[in-house]
Amino acid sequence: MKKRILTGDRTTGKLHLGHYIGSLKSRVALQESYDTFIILADVQALTTHFKEPSKINEGIYDVAIDNLAVGLKPEEVTIFQQSQVKAIAELTIFYSMFVSVNSLRHNPTIKTEAMQYGYEDLTYGFLGYPVSQAADITFCNADLIPVGGDQLPHIEQTRKIIRRFNDLYGDGQNVLTIPEALLSETPRLPGVDGNAKMGKSLGNAIYLSDEPEVVGQKIKMTKTDTNRLRLTDRGNPDICTVATYHRAFNSTESATIGEMCRNASIGCSTCKGVLSQVINETLKPIQDRRHYYDTHRHVVREIIMTGTDRANIIGDVMVEEVKEAMKLKI
Ligand code: SF4
Repeated sequence: MKKRILTGDRTTGKLHLGHYIGSLKSRVALQESYDTFIILADVQALTTHFKEPSKINEGIYDVAIDNLAVGLKPEEVTIFQQSQVKAIAELTIFYSMFVSVNSLRHNPTIKTEAMQYGYEDLTYGFLGYPVSQAADITFCNADLIPVGGDQLPHIEQTRKIIRRFNDLYGDGQNVLTIPEALLSETPRLPGVDGNAKMGKSLGNAIYLSDEPEVVGQKIKMTKTDTNRLRLTDRGNPDICTVATYHRAFNSTESATIGEMCRNASIGCSTCKGVLSQVINETLKPIQDRRHYYDTHRHVVREIIMTGTDRANIIGDVMVEEVKEAMKLKI
């Protein structure tokens, strides 16, 4: 039996290089070793974008297409739509009975994101999304959750919810699997503006779907070592976003380029030109697959429907077990 992984993306738009380096690449590498569930998290997208239903609807296709474009194979992975899996909604309600509002208010990720979005008056759905996330993970009894270091508090909250459930209703048994975090060792990719995070909402992303010219323009704008004003100035690749991208996408040349930067034997313009070419070469096969799926949306829809059907079959069984444990069956 393969262990099961649950991973996925909020359906708020197209995915970018930060997603690729941080998670999509490893999803592709792991897909044959694990039973991989990819959640198209449209309910979670609603927690922040409930006023933009059309954007979320389009985002379902965007996210599915980007996942397929990077090389996830529909015959290997289960790609499903969160809102269409009844078990997730039911489990969210059950778990919300014993999760305290205070524990949600003090969740570091909730606090950080509330600040980021400028929320003062939190909605019920936003505050409760760690509960919904516990439901996402447990409806299919996932064993492993790939995460970046900053997402560990979320996983810990999920683990607490599951342990609490097992304590309350398990009768000495673990009804629900307690998942482990599969910690990503890849450092987070900064945005083109030098911000520590590349983000859709931050306007500093290079998208998997960006045309070569757009990639070139964005790389031209990317923040460098701002102390390097002239070609003859020695640069410091340790504080240059372009150098970080070289390390992520151009591993064979990044050390040499870093050295050339330090001894001023390469100019920023040339350095950026090399990087644009390397990124565009990385994106070429992704964009070819992307074009196929984008022009065959009925195929994408079928893949999502098939995955969602499988998720529902598995989820329905889990909900029955949960109801049984909670003594809700008569
Ligand atoms: Fe950055 Fe390259 Fe310029 Fe050095 S040469 S500062 S690594 S862009």
